[in-house]
Amino acid sequence: MAEYDSDDTAGGDTAGESTRSVHAGRPPAQPYEPSLPGPTFVSHFHLPGEATGPYTYGRDQNPTWTLLEQAISELESPADPTARTAVFASGMAAVSAVLLSQLSAGDTVVLPSDCYQTTRTLQKRLESYGVTVRLAPTRGDAQLRALDGARLLWLETPSNPGLDVCDIRRLADAAHAAGALVAVDNTLATPLGQRPLDLGADFSVASGTKALTGHGDLLLGYVTTRDPELAEQTLLWRKTVGAIPGPMEAWLAHRSLATLALRVDRQAANALELATALTERPEVTELRHPGLSTDPAHRLAAAQMRRFGSVVSFTLPDQEHAERFLAALRITVEATSFGSVQCTAERRARWGGDAVPPGFIRFSVGVEDAADIVADVTRALDAAK
Ligand code: PLP
Repeated sequence: MAEYDSDDTAGGDTAGESTRSVHAGRPPAQPYEPSLPGPTFVSHFHLPGEATGPYTYGRDQNPTWTLLEQAISELESPADPTARTAVFASGMAAVSAVLLSQLSAGDTVVLPSDCYQTTRTLQKRLESYGVTVRLAPTRGDAQLRALDGARLLWLETPSNPGLDVCDIRRLADAAHAAGALVAVDNTLATPLGQRPLDLGADFSVASGTKALTGHGDLLLGYVTTRDPELAEQTLLWRKTVGAIPGPMEAWLAHRSLATLALRVDRQAANALELATALTERPEVTELRHPGLSTDPAHRLAAAQMRRFGSVVSFTLPDQEHAERFLAALRITVEATSFGSVQCTAERRARWGGDAVPPGFIRFSVGVEDAADIVADVTRALDAAK
C-alpha cells in the first residue's frame, strides 16, 4: 500500500477529508515510535551554550502544540501550506488574541450584533482602550454597511445561537476594498464544514472546545492565518499574555482530530434528521438549521459550507414549556456548549445576553443513533405539552 504523505495533502488538497483528519500533523512513521508522540510536559528546555529555538521556554513553544498546530493548518488551509496556526488555552483566548492584538486606540472594529455573547462582552473593553465598536447583524450581510473606515471586520457564520449565515467572500472582498482585515469565527462549522481562508478571510479563529475536539472534555482555541506578519503578531500576543494550552489538552485535541470527519458527518446527518422531524411539530416555531432546505440561510450555506454543523435551534411557546421539555429528555443532557459526541440542549435565555425568546432551545446533536435522538426529542415534546 502506498505510504500516506501529509506533504502531498497539504500541498495539493488531494486526499479525502477522513484521510486528512486521521493523518493531520502526525510525523512520518519511524520504527518503534508512536504514531502521535505523547504530550511533552516541560517548562524549560536544555539550552547549551548559545543555543536558541525552536524550543526555549514553555510559554513560547511546545512540541505537542507544534504537531497540533500543523494539523489544524492542514485542515483549515489544505491548499496553502504556508498557513500557520497558534493554539490557545480556550476559544476566548483566541478570539481576544486577534481583537486585542490587531486593534489600537482610534481604530474601528465591526462585530456581529448576534455573535457568541462573550465575544460581544469585549465591546466595553475595546471601547475603554479607545476603539470604536460598530455592531450589525449577520443576516443579510448587514455588516457591509458598517465597513467605512474600519480596521477589522469580525464575522461569525453560522452565528451562535441564531444560526444566521453571511456571505464570507462578499464581505471579505468589501472589507479588503475598505482597507479592513477580516476574521471569521469558524467554531460551529469546523474546518471540515467551511474554510474561511479560502473564502478570503485573513484569520480563521475558533473554539476547539466544541466540535473540533468533540468530546466535551477540554478547552482549546486557535487562530490560523496565511499572512506571516499576522502569524508573528498572534504568537507574540500569546507569549506576552500567556494564554497557552496545557500539553495534555493539546495532545487530547490532536488525538480527537482523527475522528473529526466521522463525527461531523454523523452529527450533520443526525442534525438534519432531527430538524426534519421537528418540522412536523406544531408547538415548534422559528426552527433553524442551515442544512434544512427550507431554512432562510440554506442557499448561502450550501454555497460556502461543506457540512452544516451539529446545532439545531427552535422556539417552544414559553419558558415553562421549554423547561418541561428539557427535563423530560433522557438521552440528551441539559448543558451549555455544543459540538460534543453527546446530545446537549439548553434554554438559551437562561443566561441573558442573547436576543432570543424565553422558549428558545439550542440543541446540539451528537453521534448517537438518529432514531434514538428523534425518539427522545419527540417523547420529551409530548411530555412537555
Ligand atoms: N466562539 C463561539 C462561536 C463560541 O460558541 C464559543 C463558546 O461557546 C467561543 C468562541 C469561546 O470558546 P471557549 O468556550 O472555548 O472559550
